[in-house]
Order: sequence, then structure tokens, then C-alpha cells
Amino acid sequence: MTFKVAIVGRPNVGKSTLFNRLVGRRIALVDDTPGVTRDRRVHPARLLDLRFDLIDTAGFEEAPEPTLAGRMRAQTETAIDEADLVLFMIDARAGVMPDDSTFAEVVRRKGKPVVLVANKTDVRGTEAGVLEAFGLGLGEPVAISAEHGQGMAELRDAIAEHAGEAADAAPETAEGAGEGAALPGEDIDPDAEPPAYDAQKPIRIAVAGRPNVGKSTLVNALIGEERMLTGPEAGITRDAISVDWSWRGRGMKLFDTAGMRRKARVQEKLERLSVAETLRAIRFAEVVIVVIDATMPFDKQDLQIADLVFREGRASVIAFNKWDLVEDPQRTLAELREKTERLLPQVRGIRVVPVSAETGRGLDRLMEAAVATHEVWNRRVPTGPLNRWLNAAAAQHPPPAVSGRRLKLKYMTQVKTRPPGFVLSCSRPEAMPQSYVRYLVNGLREAFDIFGVPIRVVLRTSE
Ligand code: GDP
Ligand code: GDP
Repeated sequence: MTFKVAIVGRPNVGKSTLFNRLVGRRIALVDDTPGVTRDRRVHPARLLDLRFDLIDTAGFEEAPEPTLAGRMRAQTETAIDEADLVLFMIDARAGVMPDDSTFAEVVRRKGKPVVLVANKTDVRGTEAGVLEAFGLGLGEPVAISAEHGQGMAELRDAIAEHAGEAADAAPETAEGAGEGAALPGEDIDPDAEPPAYDAQKPIRIAVAGRPNVGKSTLVNALIGEERMLTGPEAGITRDAISVDWSWRGRGMKLFDTAGMRRKARVQEKLERLSVAETLRAIRFAEVVIVVIDATMPFDKQDLQIADLVFREGRASVIAFNKWDLVEDPQRTLAELREKTERLLPQVRGIRVVPVSAETGRGLDRLMEAAVATHEVWNRRVPTGPLNRWLNAAAAQHPPPAVSGRRLKLKYMTQVKTRPPGFVLSCSRPEAMPQSYVRYLVNGLREAFDIFGVPIRVVLRTSE
């Protein structure tokens, strides 16, 4: 049985762009003109290791409706009827428009499982649009850029959750099999208890770092030499290549760069850092191990790579490699910790682990840190404790007065995970100084033990 997916939404949100990316050929026409006629019906599609069928909404042309809007609607309804899962797309840049709400209503009425997708998040300042999407009552939005391929791993997971055994994933990645699909129209309940962390799901990990820090040696040490030499088996796709292994019974999917595999085979040196390859690895991963050479730490490239990992919203740990060459381990570690906090203030409390990929020392601790950080990345703070903390934080250090009036904090909710994202309702968000937001973010980290992952806070007017 093939699993059928329909991408629906108002014109211009980026449906064809995603369609093209998933189908891998330029079947649908991308155009700024809404409602451009496209090729028809159903096309085999692939997202990382997941295979399914995509229904081209605009393929249903002959809807007997007098108006363009009516035809689009009818096409959408037909596509939804045929689909097992609906990807409902909005344009995060534009935010939620009246047409989005209309389409959302159609989707909700049909009662099919839905994944809400907020597109164009490559553009700056789209976080508000993503958060607005919550208001549609179709669940948690998956932030993507169809054009630039961002958020594809998250989208893959969201689809896989509904697809279960129906989608043709490599067997070991068919997580979510047999799970009931979320009820469409199910609202995010701000007072809901956080969902249990799913410790069964494999963790996607990537190793990043500048050339020669020991990435391939580390990957080899983690998964064992033979696997590397025989090459990854199942799960090879054109988008990402991963090697599956398990650590203490927990499934792991390790991004294996083409460069690493080539090197493992023919011992050739890759001198240049490929930014595209690094980005691919980071976007594949939930947790990124940033490898830094302990004997030559904090090169400019090290900082750039770490910054990229944070900006992409990934969980991260730092491996200080070649520890076997370090003369005074205790003093060096203290120094490196201090430097990490100073040079990478974006993510406070990031876990740092000294390792030797060559001797295998520290690898267990590195994996422990990776798993722990992954858990934090998925953490959801319940609204009750969050607001008790907020009141205490505001009492201890009240927000400033701006032009004679004191800013007021109303309440806070966590609206997303992976990484944690919060909405703070307050009076006059535009007047709130960044320093106060930083105070709150640091307080959140301390109070709820959210270290080593980025924290997003969006201010909302409480009026
Ligand atoms: P459709 O009408 O929903 O099928 O939308 P299209 O796929 O035709 O896209 C509409 C416009 O949005 C085109 O100009 C695309 O290039 C643009 N677009 C699509 N996806 C993205 C994205 O992820 N980021 C940005 N910045 N633009 C996008
Ligand atoms: P990559 O370019 O980041 O993949 O780095 P490689 O894994 O190719 O390693 C670069 C060099 O550092 C090689 O000569 C490795 O043998 C060496 N190396 C890697 N890890 C260690 C380590 O833990 N200790 C020592 N002494 N050398 C290492």
C-alpha cells in the first residue's frame, strides 16, 4: 500500500516548490502567478529515507466551479479526499491570512490527519508567522524552507509519525508504526502535560568540524571500522547518507559525509571545508557533535561552525579531540571551558567533553552528553511552573519603565520544542529591551535546566 500525501494551502505559499523538491523532478511549474496549471495527479516522492505518493492538488482541473477560488477549493477537497495525510502549508513570511483560515477550515472538516507546515522560514523575522500558525488549531507547525531545503528532517519525522508502516521507509526507521494519528483540529492545549520523551526513536547525529580535527577518526571509533569500510547499508538516499548503529541499546543514525566515506576508502585528504556539506550534515541532525582539536582550539572556523549549529536550532555538544596529546589535562579543560563560555555565549552551558578518537577515551561520556542534550532539546516546560517562575523572576528583577510607564509581563507559554520556543505576552513588546529578554532566557535555562540548546523567545502584545 502506498501512502498518499497532499500539499494544500492558499496560492503562493510554496506548495509547488515543496512538491518539486519531494518529487525530485520539475513536474510542477513554479511561478509567482497563483493558480498556474500544473501536471496532474499522483507522483512518487521521497523525503530522506521516506517514500510516499504526492498528490498534485492542481492536477484536478475539471472541478465544475465558476470562480478560480471555487475551483481551487474543489481541487483541494478532492485531493484531501484521496490523501492519507494532508500537509497544510502557510507562508510564515506573510503570517496567517484570511484565506489560510478558510483553507484550514476545509482541512479540519475533512477530518484527515494533518501536518501543519510553515514555509519560507529562510527569511528573517518569520518566527512570529510560525507562532501565529498555532492559532489555526492544526497542531504544532513544522518550520521549513521549501526553496532551501531547511527543516526537511523535521518534516520527515512529522510525516513518518502518521505514515506508520504504510510509508515505505527503510524498516529500521519506520518509527511511529502503529501509532494513532493525532486528531485533526486538535488544539495545542497550553496547560497540557508535556508529552513523554520518546526514548525509542533513533537519534540523528552529525559530526561537524573543520578539516583535520579528527571527524572521520571519531566516526570510525563510534561505529566501528568495518561499517565504515563496507559502507552504510540500509537508509542510503540521495539527500542524506546515514549509518545506523546503537549505543547502550539506543538507536542512532549518524550522518556520514561523502567526504568521510571517500577518505575511509582511499585515505585521501580533504583539505577544504565544504560549507554545503557541513550544512547538509547539520540539517540532517538533531544533535551535532562539534569537534574541536584540543591542541589548536577555537580557530575562526571552529567558531563559525558552532555558530551555524546554534543558528540552525540544533542541540550540540563539543568534543575536544586529541586529548591524548594534551599535557596538563586539568588546567587545559578549565581553560577550554572558560573560553567556550566566553567565545560562544549564544548557547550557555553547552556540554564539553574531552575525547581521544584515536584511543577511544571519553567516547561514552560524549554519547551520554549527546543523549542528554537531545532530551533537553525536546523538553517541554508545563505552563503552570513556567508562569510561577516568570512571576518570581519579574518580582526579583522587574522589567524597566520606558517613557514613564513600567512594562508589564503577562504570561508565558512554551509553544514549541526542538529547540524550545516560548511566547511571552507583555505590554508594549517593541519597547522591551533585549537585555531584559536575555535576563529571562538565562533565568529559564537555570530554572528548567535547559542547557546546550538554543532558546527562542517571541514577544507578543497582551492587548
Ligand atoms: P504555490 O502557489 O503554493 O504552489 O507556491 P509556489 O511554489 O509557486 O511558490 C510561490 C512563490 O514563493 C515562488 O516565488 C517561490 O519561489 C516562493 N517560495 C517558495 N518556497 C519558498 C521558500 O522556502 N522561501 C522563500 N523565500 N520563497 C519561497
Ligand atoms: P578530519 O579531517 O576531521 O576527518 O580528521 P581525521 O579523522 O582525518 O584526522 C586528522 C588527523 O588527526 C589524522 O592524522 C588522525 O590520525 C589524527 N587524529 C584524529 N583523532 C586523534 C586523536 O584523538 N589523537 C591524536 N593524537 N590524533 C588524532
